[in-house]
Amino acid sequence: MARISDLLQRGPTFSFEFFPPRTDEEKDRLSQTIQDLEPLHPSFVSVTYRGGRSSRERTTAVVTDIIRSRAITAMPHLVCVAHSRGELEEIVGGFIEAGVENLLALGGDPVAEEGPGELKHAAELVELARALGGSSIGVAAHPAGHPRSPDRESDRRHLAAKLALADFGITQFFFHVEDYLRLREELADLGLSKPVIPGIMPILSLASVKRMSELAGYQVPADVVDRLGPLEDDPQEFRRVGIELAGELCRQLLEAGAPGLHFYTLNFSKATLEIYRSLELRAQWGGPRAGRAEHGRQGGHPPSERETIA
Ligand code: FAD
Repeated sequence: MARISDLLQRGPTFSFEFFPPRTDEEKDRLSQTIQDLEPLHPSFVSVTYRGGRSSRERTTAVVTDIIRSRAITAMPHLVCVAHSRGELEEIVGGFIEAGVENLLALGGDPVAEEGPGELKHAAELVELARALGGSSIGVAAHPAGHPRSPDRESDRRHLAAKLALADFGITQFFFHVEDYLRLREELADLGLSKPVIPGIMPILSLASVKRMSELAGYQVPADVVDRLGPLEDDPQEFRRVGIELAGELCRQLLEAGAPGLHFYTLNFSKATLEIYRSLELRAQWGGPRAGRAEHGRQGGHPPSERETIA
């Protein structure tokens, strides 16, 4: 398996985020989605830590299964809030032993089944993983600022300090390229130039994306609501415009030199595939897919959207 920190040096990465299934139905859907998206030869996929402590087995199972049975680099997410320091050491050590070379180190949101939460911030988890031998560690970035931050400036300072310890960042979803450019400029002003991969969420339902945005402390921009709102009674046209908007954002981000695109798939594949197809930039992708993208485009069977950004 490849290290994402190395892949990012080769060129833009193209990656998908999945959440670990809880039910048999979700399990079947994820299997089908992975099968559908595999022909695109993603640079890597990531698997969320969904719902606190109980995600330990589920996230680990999905990641190790992908690594064992498919030629795809898979990265687990891990959250501070769910576990004690000792448990986090055990989990990270287990990942390393199982050959998992990448980790997305997160603070996590308070959950009902919250654990002891000895580590207060994601940066401490980065340090813990590094001390255990982790060599390709990502962290979360929030273009609009984290909802618990008193202001964007302090959030940027904490993010810069966290990124200085880590290898790369992945952003929360957003809908205007300017949000990403501002994040990059503000980090550059703080002396940070580590790669930060934009997170892409295609809008297929205004209600659900508004709900997820609220949870992430972000407001769906008015122009996006104005464009999609009148189409809510026409699902086909809504979907077409939602995909078109996401495709436009991807193109703008790549033109602006973003180091990759990370798709929140919500364990569905169709929207991601449609956006991928609309991008005429396949040949330039970095990572294991480079040079094989054309095969994926022709031979790939069209597949079939992240639960809440956990
Ligand atoms: P942190 O970096 O710890 O930041 C949290 C808050 O603390 C911010 O306001 C920050 O400014 C502040 N802060 C940081 N350091 C300090 C310091 N030293 N002193 C004072 N304040 C500080 N959640 C899940 O539960 N599971 C997932 O799998 C998951 N995947 C995600 C993937 C991505 C790409 C993203 C963007 C988010 C994901 N989340 C996930 C959500 C994330 O856990 C929440 O947004 C969480 O509230 C903050 O996580 P963080 O890693 O940014 O935390």
